Amino acid sequence: MIATLYAEAEEADDDVLNPNPPKEGTTEGGTGGRRFNDGDRAREMQETGGRCRYCGEQTTPGQRGPRQWHGDHAHPLSRGGSNDFMNLNGSCRTCNLLKGALTALEFADRLVGWLNPLFRGGG
Ligand SMILES: [Zn+2]
Repeated sequence: MIATLYAEAEEADDDVLNPNPPKEGTTEGGTGGRRFNDGDRAREMQETGGRCRYCGEQTTPGQRGPRQWHGDHAHPLSRGGSNDFMNLNGSCRTCNLLKGALTALEFADRLVGWLNPLFRGGG
């Protein structure tokens, strides 16, 4: 189940913070289609302190690995989401891939669904 999510997510997303982006400006508002603009990414980094909005872990921008910073589309592009700042959730790679093509709220619901049902039932 989780393995499937990962596989889908690899294709579904996304926007990885690269310390050496290719040719600044050439993709601005154009064919770069999947990316948030640099200003919005910087703003999100500042507002979150570089922490993942889903799990709260400190991300490692520009470094490959489970905590690499990703610009997650809260409403996935593949489902009509935009590259507007309001759709940007800074996240770690792990959460972003796990989330895949779910919306942020669907992802939250899924996390709840993974809780111990006895706990979830409020017993
Ligand atoms: Zn995370």
